[in-house]
Order: sequence, then structure tokens, then C-alpha cells
Amino acid sequence: MPVPATVQQEAATRELVVTWTDGHVSRYPYRLLRQHCPCAMCVHEWTGAQLLDPERVPPDIYPKDVARVGAYALRFVWSDGHATGIYPFALLRNLCACRDCTRART
Ligand SMILES: [Zn+2]
Ligand SMILES: [Zn+2]
Repeated sequence: MPVPATVQQEAATRELVVTWTDGHVSRYPYRLLRQHCPCAMCVHEWTGAQLLDPERVPPDIYPKDVARVGAYALRFVWSDGHATGIYPFALLRNLCACRDCTRART
């Protein structure tokens, strides 16, 4: 299982750029990442139903802080004050929308 080697915020494109230990590079638009927050406030713990209305995520959202949580996840503090989202690496990798990953998933 690859893990992020580097995590960079790219202000110009409003993307988080993750370079993985297997050399893969993923680019995540900030808003998309926020919309996929897996915390208990955004996704129902038991049913998996999405509680967050993706339309209500501000278009100008950005991460104020990105921190590594142990060896398995990244934690985001968002500009809308939301700070409970812990994104496991497997989830992040799954959110990669590049052509290779999209093709591998279908
Ligand atoms: Zn959340
Ligand atoms: Zn990819």
C-alpha cells in the first residue's frame, strides 16, 4: 500500500498535490476533498449516508493545515472551521481522479 511521500498545497490551482511512495502523483481540488470528508459529522457512522450537503461547501474552501496522523491518514483543518476530518491514505488514493486511477477502477 503506497503512502504519501510529499503533500503540497498549490494555491494557484487550489489543489492538494500528493506524491506517493510508488511515484504516483495525485491532484485533489480542495472542494472535492472537503466534500469527501469521512468524519462522523459528514458521513453517518452506521449507514454510511452522506450528511454533508456537497453544494454547501464554499467554492473558496482551502485547507488551513494538513497534518499526518500516525502512519495511516492525513488530517485537514479547513477554512470553514471543520477540523474533524481524518482521511485514511486508502480513501485518498481512491479519490484520485487521474486517468490511470479512473481506468483501474472501472
Ligand atoms: Zn467532516
Ligand atoms: Zn491517480
